[in-house]
Amino acid sequence: MKQADIVIIGGAIMGASVAYFLKKDLGFEGSVIVVEQDPSYANSSTTLSAASIRQQFSTPENISLSQFGLQFFGELKDRFGEDADIAYHEGGYLILASEAGLPILQNNHKTQVECGADVDLMTPGEMKKTFPWLNVDDLAAGAYGRSGEGWFDAHMFLDLVRKGAIAAGAHFTKGTVVGMDQLGGKVTAVKLADGETIACGAAVNCAGANAGKVAAMLGIDLPIEPRKRTIFVIDNKKPHPNMPLITDTSGVYIRPEGDVYNLRLPSTGRPGSRL
Ligand SMILES: Cc1cc2nc3c(=O)[nH]c(=O)nc-3n(C[C@H](O)[C@H](O)[C@H](O)COP(=O)(O)OP(=O)(O)OC[C@H]3O[C@@H](n4cnc5c(N)ncnc54)[C@H](O)[C@@H]3O)c2cc1C
Repeated sequence: MKQADIVIIGGAIMGASVAYFLKKDLGFEGSVIVVEQDPSYANSSTTLSAASIRQQFSTPENISLSQFGLQFFGELKDRFGEDADIAYHEGGYLILASEAGLPILQNNHKTQVECGADVDLMTPGEMKKTFPWLNVDDLAAGAYGRSGEGWFDAHMFLDLVRKGAIAAGAHFTKGTVVGMDQLGGKVTAVKLADGETIACGAAVNCAGANAGKVAAMLGIDLPIEPRKRTIFVIDNKKPHPNMPLITDTSGVYIRPEGDVYNLRLPSTGRPGSRL
């Protein structure tokens, strides 16, 4: 029977990061096995995401997490070598507010500035000056991240962290976790669909949207379930210069990617005619 001190279930960005930081930053000397059901990551949120990073959150905790992410981006070459690159483009977020949404935007902005985020609260006139192609008629304000916000290549980022974890001593294996053994409240083994069992001292649930299913294997009710999300890619013949990621008052967000735009609709809304 295979054995590991720690088994990580799911090997996308969370699983790979747990393995990397355990081995590299914390110097964990025990064995770490990461079990990933699909090493192509075709259906992982990590590779299907909009891969954007922002400082514009409403709580100090979330802002701190993003600041850590940003600091990590700045350390990529030191950590992974001179060629390390995730195609990070610091394009900024522009979050728009109507009269009704203004107090929330102002409140969030206050929290962000107190936490050291480089976010500017703009009037409609200021936005029109900076982004002349933007329809500001029904807007009260916009919050624009002047630095520390943008988007990157999720595949390149995952590849770096995964390879970094392997170089630091973690082992990745292909398999689908279908069950676990436990004794006295501790996981003692992880069972795979092909019949293999990996004995372990602890297991870490990094199964993303499947985390609820994995927790249920231990009788734990974790309210996480997959929900459908859709990003559309729009071909644009005349891209707007210096376009940030824009979150409209309707909940739609859109960002440029070379000559095309990525557009995400809210679950119930319809796109407006902002651009
Ligand atoms: C459309 C969309 C856009 C997003 N945009 C952004 C964004 O712009 N910025 C941002 O910060 N976040 C964004 N997110 C959120 C972000 O993608 C996720 O928070 C992050 O990728 C979660 O990583 P994860 O490793 O936990 O999950 P995942 O990437 O889903 O990885 C979980 C892994 O576990 C594996 N797995 C599951 N069950 C098992 C099992 N039983 N056995 C073995 N392996 C298993 C899966 O194959 C998968 O690879 C977006 C998400 C979506 C869906």
